[in-house]
Amino acid sequence: MRWSTQAIAVNGTPVDDGALPGLQRLGLVRSVRVPHFDGITFHEVLCKSALNKVPNAAALPFRFTVNGYRGCSHACRYCFARPTHEYLDFDPGDDFDTQVIVKTNVAEVLRRELRRPSWQRETVALGTNTDPYQRAEGRYALMPGIITALAGSGTPLSILTKGTLLRRDLRLIADAAQHVPVSVAVSLAVGDPELHRDVEPGTPTPQARLQLIRAIRDAGLNCHVMVAPVLPHLTDSAEHLDGLLGQIAAAGATSVTVFGLHLRGSTRGWFMAWLSRQHPELLAAYRELYRRGAYLPESYRDMLRQRAAPLVKKHRLAGDSRPSTVAAEAASAPEPLQPTLF
Ligand code: SF4
Repeated sequence: MRWSTQAIAVNGTPVDDGALPGLQRLGLVRSVRVPHFDGITFHEVLCKSALNKVPNAAALPFRFTVNGYRGCSHACRYCFARPTHEYLDFDPGDDFDTQVIVKTNVAEVLRRELRRPSWQRETVALGTNTDPYQRAEGRYALMPGIITALAGSGTPLSILTKGTLLRRDLRLIADAAQHVPVSVAVSLAVGDPELHRDVEPGTPTPQARLQLIRAIRDAGLNCHVMVAPVLPHLTDSAEHLDGLLGQIAAAGATSVTVFGLHLRGSTRGWFMAWLSRQHPELLAAYRELYRRGAYLPESYRDMLRQRAAPLVKKHRLAGDSRPSTVAAEAASAPEPLQPTLF
């Protein structure tokens, strides 16, 4: 692994300044390993900009994002953001899960950018590249500053996460919603505990995320749920979807979006390697499904839509009152949304 050639600091004391070229470009301050985060190295950088403009070609319902972290210890095998680690000279597999870049000054830079007269106060999406409430957030607490900066400037915001750490900021988020449109979404697509441990090993359990949905609703906020990505032949049965949607509805979710897995770039190899170890019997079926590229064929998407739509209706999860984030129509999210959803 390329990372192994770089020395690091332990408990905050740098021992070597030989950073990878990609990190030097980002403005690396130090690399640290700290207690309670076994196997994870944090690379603290000073960012020059916080607001990212989404390319027009992405056809998304928001044009700006903020990401305080790169890499994600939630370690989902299917994570579409993996290839972004390659730009930093890390590998998109283990390094993505364990080498986490932290923009320690992101809130300060964001506040400066939001003061620009040219800022039009368009919705800013949080959680579109890596999870803003991954474990690192427990140490660095970037989100309170980001939320406060956005709400204070009159900027609507949306949050998408698998992280139960969001509970820490619920009061702040609810306060922000008194001043600007705020939408909160939780990602939960795997109901089976064993499969969850295997395919999303660093994430809170399905049960914990159901409790998070309940807590969000108890705080007076709507809660959208991304039932995505649905994994062909693993989580796409009517039985699994029915059970999961029933639990999501019982937790109080206000709406859902359901869509299937896409496999792009180096994520494809990482996921297929996992599949060949854990479910070799499915390899041929996946090769056929993704024969033409990153997206599932139209026939599969039609099948999933037809299977999920009546279940969404049955559990009364079709409504969506979020102001301007991801598409709300359950089971019919267009594929181009996927690259910016985590
Ligand atoms: S899918 Fe989301 S939660 Fe999972 S590793 Fe990627 S960014 Fe993290």
